[in-house]
Amino acid sequence: MNSNESTGSIPPWNKVYQLEELESWNFTGPSLAVLGHPIAHSLSPVIHNAALKRMGDRFSNWRYYAFDVPVERLDEGLSLFHDKGFLGLNLTIPHKVEVLDLIPDVDPVARRMGAVNTLMLGQDGYLGRNTDGFGIQNALKKELGVDLSGADVIILGAGGASRATVVQCLDAGCRKVWIGNRSMDRLQELVAAVGGANSRLATFSLTTPPDELPESALLINATSLGLQLEDPAPADLSAFPSDIKVYDMIYNPPETALLSEAHKLGLSMANGLSMLVYQAAQSLHYWTDAEIPVESMFEALANR
Ligand code: NDP
Repeated sequence: MNSNESTGSIPPWNKVYQLEELESWNFTGPSLAVLGHPIAHSLSPVIHNAALKRMGDRFSNWRYYAFDVPVERLDEGLSLFHDKGFLGLNLTIPHKVEVLDLIPDVDPVARRMGAVNTLMLGQDGYLGRNTDGFGIQNALKKELGVDLSGADVIILGAGGASRATVVQCLDAGCRKVWIGNRSMDRLQELVAAVGGANSRLATFSLTTPPDELPESALLINATSLGLQLEDPAPADLSAFPSDIKVYDMIYNPPETALLSEAHKLGLSMANGLSMLVYQAAQSLHYWTDAEIPVESMFEALANR
């Protein structure tokens, strides 16, 4: 008997599914999915299925799907995924924060980050975790050779991605973290959410960077400014130390105005594709408890 006879035929993964299709889902093999709205652009199925394929016989009938789930249907959707036995889910825009009120269990780090991007199947619902912090930490190491322990980090932005990065930086032992944002109210909210005043945290307005920044600092763009081709850079790099390294969480477009300026200045720099891969690898590790062939994820992106 092959595995498909016991689990139903394996649905194709290279299309976007709607919740209605989940109602009649009869594949009972190990299923994973990313939920978002919009979701058609998501690269997650490509990278997860590439890794699963490389992981050998034990994972031969595991599949990772993309589902378009609007925000008002997330609660209902989660019950359905649970009923159908989906082992793990990723959440992307606009679900990462709203889900906190919809699941029975959230791990403490994800709670401090204020967002959940990974759900693990439990008896009564899903356990929420966050792998974005792991993603950025490993991306910085691979692309720029930066170890967060003892590092000086400048983060632009005060939204969800910034908050996960700030928590990761503090937990990993950064020496100091400077956070700059356009809206000062949102910036103060972030500082309060990650534990309040702390000698390792400093804030600034995007238009006036602090002048005591160390030469070896790392600058991370965690704003969404750059997603549109015509967007300007969120900050003027010439106002920062001349030897900084630059990481832009944005990967589409692959070179934002910020990275283009870094390029002209001859600075070490990288875009957010590696963060995407490492957060995915950590989610897949949580679901499979196996070693993840991260290089297969990078290869899948390069060949898409
Ligand atoms: P949020 O919507 O939560 O936060 C957006 C941030 O961008 C805020 O700080 C906001 O500032 C700032 N911003 C928006 N427009 C402007 C502008 N015109 N000028 C200056 N600042 C602006 O988004 P997320 O935190 O979820 O995501 C941030 C970025 O990180 C996105 O580009 C996203 O694609 C990327 N990302 C990449 C990941 C990866 O794996 N590579 C993972 C997660 C996110 P204000 O408070 O003033 O509005």
